[in-house]
Amino acid sequence: MTNPNQVAIVTGASRGIGAAIAERLARDGFTVAINYAGNTAEAEQLVRKIEAAGGRAITAQADVSDPEAVTRMFDAAEAAFGGVDVLVNNAGIMKLAPLADSDDGLFESQMAVNLKGTFNTLRLAARRLRSGGRIVNLSTSVVGLKLESYGVYAATKAAVEAMTGILSKELRGRSITVNAVAPGPTATDLFLNGKSDELIARMAKMNPLERLGTPSDIANAVAFLVGPDGGWINGQVLRANGGMI
Ligand code: NDP
Repeated sequence: MTNPNQVAIVTGASRGIGAAIAERLARDGFTVAINYAGNTAEAEQLVRKIEAAGGRAITAQADVSDPEAVTRMFDAAEAAFGGVDVLVNNAGIMKLAPLADSDDGLFESQMAVNLKGTFNTLRLAARRLRSGGRIVNLSTSVVGLKLESYGVYAATKAAVEAMTGILSKELRGRSITVNAVAPGPTATDLFLNGKSDELIARMAKMNPLERLGTPSDIANAVAFLVGPDGGWINGQVLRANGGMI
């Protein structure tokens, strides 16, 4: 069980993997700020669910690609709870197309949310996280798999992995770890939307455990890295994918 005064911001936590991470961290004793872009109803519902289970949470609307909105989110969390100990950079979008067919909008939107969004929160966390804190960035196993049509998406996450290792060193002396979790196919809107049942079944069998990941599979990995047992892991990318790569 974590110190009850520890505060975690989880970006993109209104649904999918981020919601599972927020719920798990609240269960582990963190006070959680549930960031989201537009889905207020789902974020508020998650706060109520966490509170009903005895946890502490608030909603924190902010488009992570907007540095001023991210600053307001940190300000609000610090004002409400006195400081921030954990940042989980989970907010992300995925748009797939072969490079030949990728337009500027596909490139710019994913760069804005996945890379600039992560940069915006990392920069503030580097300045303001309390000593002993933890940072976890969400990458993807596609950085290793190199599947066709994932070019721009995987490129944003490869850049996130690069910043993960570098920030872990820049925070020398602060007792803050910085790691990434790189899921494989996980049953959320982001993965399932727009795919045929046949393609989903085929991708589920790409790992030797022969199933899709669940949001709680990924939340378990994040909980390890931000919890008491993960303190010696720093600057690493943990692929959570059932052994796909
Ligand atoms: P979902 O699409 O299910 O959920 C995305 C979440 O991100 C929502 O809470 C959404 O908020 C939020 N979000 C989107 N854009 C922004 C923004 N600009 N600012 C703030 N929040 C935003 O995604 P997943 O749960 O599947 O993915 C979570 C992370 O895991 C992503 O980084 C993704 O790249 C990564 N990942 C996912 C895999 C998968 O197979 N699912 C595999 C590998 C990595 P709102 O509800 O308000 O729109």
